[in-house]
Amino acid sequence: MTMLDWSEPNPASAAMPRALPHDPLAADATGLGTIDRGAARVRVDDKAMINARADVNQLLPLKYRWAWEKYLAGCNNHWMPTEVSMQADIALWKSKDGLTEDERRMVKRNLGFFAASESLVANNVVLAIYRHLTNPECRQYLLRQSFEEAVHTHTFQYIVESLSLDEGELFNMYREVPSITDKAAWALAHTQSLDDPDFRTGTPEADRRFLRDLVAFYVVFEGMWFYTGFAQILSLGRRNKMVGIAEQYQYILRDESIHLNFGIDVINQIKAENPHLWTPAFQAEVAGMIRDAAELEAAYGRDTMPRGFLGLNAALCEEYMHFIANRRSAQLGLPPVFGEADNPFPWMSEAMDLKKEKNFFETRVIEYQNGGALSWE
Ligand code: FE
Ligand code: MN
Repeated sequence: MTMLDWSEPNPASAAMPRALPHDPLAADATGLGTIDRGAARVRVDDKAMINARADVNQLLPLKYRWAWEKYLAGCNNHWMPTEVSMQADIALWKSKDGLTEDERRMVKRNLGFFAASESLVANNVVLAIYRHLTNPECRQYLLRQSFEEAVHTHTFQYIVESLSLDEGELFNMYREVPSITDKAAWALAHTQSLDDPDFRTGTPEADRRFLRDLVAFYVVFEGMWFYTGFAQILSLGRRNKMVGIAEQYQYILRDESIHLNFGIDVINQIKAENPHLWTPAFQAEVAGMIRDAAELEAAYGRDTMPRGFLGLNAALCEEYMHFIANRRSAQLGLPPVFGEADNPFPWMSEAMDLKKEKNFFETRVIEYQNGGALSWE
């Protein structure tokens, strides 16, 4: 290595002073520190995704309008699982020949995968991401996302109760079914890496650890693995089977597509503000994560659908995963990780566009309790 050349700005130290771990002068990343009386007012330019110097307790002035827009979009998509009737699903689930054994196996494993995954994602958001994302408008979205994850977990509670499923079997699948455990363990390793209470961002090594966690949860968990899960259930729904669960999955899919896109925007914004983190070696590492995740998903597909059934089998799901993996890579500015892959489930894009369909909400007659319903007696 040559000596440091001070005539060229070093991207690692340029632009913004970085908060170092345990630096007593570091900005207050949590927002719970002592109030800095008489500090200068927050300027937009002081705001940053990570390692910000600006007070994280001040939403305005907004810097990242995309984060605020996603918060508004999430609020506009409000729903509750109990609004969806489970009558048809209950009748089909209880009838002897309504579903094949293969279909039942897929449905149960799919529910088992999602049931615990929603909690893993929520815990990662609240306990790992939130602390280190030093921007109030992003945190505003994370608070909305956290609630949506609670709604999703509620959905699986509601399904278990409606269909009288074995709750222990379903909620323990992530520990007892190896193809599900392998996926959860892979993602957990990345959030565990931030679990040390002394973990701070502010060094390239730590900032990359944080980026790995964002990739593992937003891009892989919510952006890849959830999508084959949606395809499995929505493919049944297309054949008029388990239509209540399929409707709930469409609402979840609508939420998750915003979670995914928020995560992609967060990663890309961190890259733009910290170009020194996005080295060729790190890009190759992220591509490797996406490739590994697709392989874990292929194993899960073979395990959930050993034989396959009408319109759906493990090979089609693997092809879909390659298609999705290439899309996620492109969204992160990376070359495709797999060779040319077509979308074997073109109807999935229709399912995602359902939000535009007029009667999606017209079938719902829901009034949320508002101020007028409160009694002050
Ligand atoms: Fe979710
Ligand atoms: Mn989510």
